[in-house]
Amino acid sequence: MQDLWQDNRSTIPPRSLLEEIVKTITDRWLGLESLALASIAERPTQRDAIGKLPDLAGLPNTPEAKASVVRAWLRNWVKKGVWFDGTPQEWWGNKVKGNASGKFETAMKRVLADPAARKTFMEQWLPALRPLFLDTSVNPPRLGAKTVSLALGGDWVRCPLCKSVHRPVLGVSRCLDCDEGTSVPLDTLNDQVFEARKGYYRRGVEQAFADPPEPPMALIAAEHTAQLNATQNDSAFSKAEENELLFQDVDINWRPNAPKAAAIDILSSTTTMEVGIDIGALSGVALRNMPPGRANYQQRAGRAGRRGNAVATVIAFGSADSHDEHYFRRPAEMISGPVVDPRLTLDNPDIVRRHVYAFLLQRYHQARLPDVDPGAQPDLFSVLGSVANFRTGLGILNRNDFKHWMNENATTLRTRVDGWIPTQLSAVDRADILATMFDSCLREIDEAIDYGIPEVDAPPLPAGDESPEAGEDPAADGEDQTEKRPERAMLLDRLLYSGVLPRYAFPTDVATFHVFDVGNSTGGWPVFSSHPLKAFRLRSAICARTASLDFREVLHLGSALFANVRRAV
Ligand SMILES: [Zn+2]
Repeated sequence: MQDLWQDNRSTIPPRSLLEEIVKTITDRWLGLESLALASIAERPTQRDAIGKLPDLAGLPNTPEAKASVVRAWLRNWVKKGVWFDGTPQEWWGNKVKGNASGKFETAMKRVLADPAARKTFMEQWLPALRPLFLDTSVNPPRLGAKTVSLALGGDWVRCPLCKSVHRPVLGVSRCLDCDEGTSVPLDTLNDQVFEARKGYYRRGVEQAFADPPEPPMALIAAEHTAQLNATQNDSAFSKAEENELLFQDVDINWRPNAPKAAAIDILSSTTTMEVGIDIGALSGVALRNMPPGRANYQQRAGRAGRRGNAVATVIAFGSADSHDEHYFRRPAEMISGPVVDPRLTLDNPDIVRRHVYAFLLQRYHQARLPDVDPGAQPDLFSVLGSVANFRTGLGILNRNDFKHWMNENATTLRTRVDGWIPTQLSAVDRADILATMFDSCLREIDEAIDYGIPEVDAPPLPAGDESPEAGEDPAADGEDQTEKRPERAMLLDRLLYSGVLPRYAFPTDVATFHVFDVGNSTGGWPVFSSHPLKAFRLRSAICARTASLDFREVLHLGSALFANVRRAV
């Protein structure tokens, strides 16, 4: 250990490692302290100085008690981040912050109930603690990693109210993190609630410290979504393709200048995995939600155990919504029985209408295509241009031109539509659609784009507003923006969002409707079909199933899966 230390003491750790170290120490929910694994404490050489600090009124004042007060104070610094040698300068001020006075009055008031003790602490302790622990080469000062140590083992307490886990401060029973709680001793190994909440994250460390130690299992997880698909000019594969290859243990390091890449154990994917992507043999599939239906379950689960794999496991997690809970209680309904045949409801006038609108817009687009600048349509969803251009008439495709074009070509269009409308549609509906299609198409589009409502100058988006925060669901975020500011949206997006056009996609925003009591039910179409916008919101609220996974969740699922495979082997 001595040699190892000598060799590495002046080495600067890689940035990604430093980032993990700081996070492991400071994370509020899964950091070392909240998992009751270790806490930041003084170094042994500082104990003398701490023992000599003046006594605090109302506290035991043994050297150990004084040290526990110092640790409670250090805790506040840890929340601001810890500065290691070699920490990148740009972390200063955001990932690691300083504090000018170092008083932490609100928090220290919980430790030092007696005003006299607070006075002694602020006036006599602080000037002594500052040079012991703080890096004062910067302003405001920050906590330097080399002045503290990591205390393992020892006692822990937990607040039954705010669930905060911390070290006991001798002579103090108040929670350090909230104003109401009284901390009680925490038995980390036998407390069932703590074990259920944090046990999983503690286990790796417990095993590494066990005798004999069990080495940790390294899992490399990567993402596989359509969003990673754009190939950069200088690379042979898109990120998704690269991940696919690494997942199949294909060595791609032979390429000149290829970055070193390790094989991937877990691929976190969206529902695209359900169809056709060949990622080789899988030994396990973990489903983050219950799939919408049996067919989806079979497609997803069926990815595992092909090509003669002797062992394959499938785990499905039930989230806290009614759909998932239902199948969590009755798994047989999800995993067995015949698959319900997909059915096309060709006699639904609402659906036919949407197809007619799509047809009209498509023909209009075709008619104007020679004038459209192809460079102005970088992606599929901007193919019809922006809502603003369509409304104001600035675009080649615009609302008044569309109306004019429909009037000019009314006879041809009506004949064409009459030719393909499904024969299953009732004669009344058919006649109605053919008679009103131009007016109703324009009306629906007008409603969707707020046509005729005067423009309100929307305040400019604050910087960074367009890129959703990490962890947020980008799809949901996009929807909100579309709803709030239709004039900012792309026309096609807006029309899809408002239910003017038919949607085909993975079942991310649909729900299955059950008729529980057929006898007492009236026929006809669900009420919401006349309010497509509301219906859409409702459905996305019920069943949004986009794969937006936290990294830890991925690892959690992955290792649960691996544990299962291990057991099965
Ligand atoms: Zn508390």
